[in-house]
Amino acid sequence: MTKNAEQILAIVNDSKEHLSAEQIFLCLKETHKGVALATVYNNLSFLCKEGLIRKISVEGCPDRYDKVNRHDHLVCRRCGKLSDVQLEDLTDMLQKQVKVPVLSYDLKMNYLCEECLKIENLKEKFI
Ligand SMILES: [Zn+2]
Ligand SMILES: [Zn+2]
Repeated sequence: MTKNAEQILAIVNDSKEHLSAEQIFLCLKETHKGVALATVYNNLSFLCKEGLIRKISVEGCPDRYDKVNRHDHLVCRRCGKLSDVQLEDLTDMLQKQVKVPVLSYDLKMNYLCEECLKIENLKEKFI
């Protein structure tokens, strides 16, 4: 693994947020002034392919990158914010239903985050 890949992996694993490639790029730039955004993208796709990080795609939002430990996500329907939730591993249950091996799954539940809930509530009051 290259130094860049190692550092990107560390950034993703140390972050409490769900970072986009641009955010990771800005983080990496603090220590590697000359780094290019394309390098970050290349390393991110390498790390995804190796199963060391995971990519979370939400329509209308830039892709975000996350740790691979078992957890699922709440996605704010209004701003796209991601929140981690811990659910039981559903692989066995899914496998029994489809009767072929389930390799992985990506569960996203929609919600409104606290900030968006406030805004939506305000709107209701004014309409
Ligand atoms: Zn929101
Ligand atoms: Zn997450």
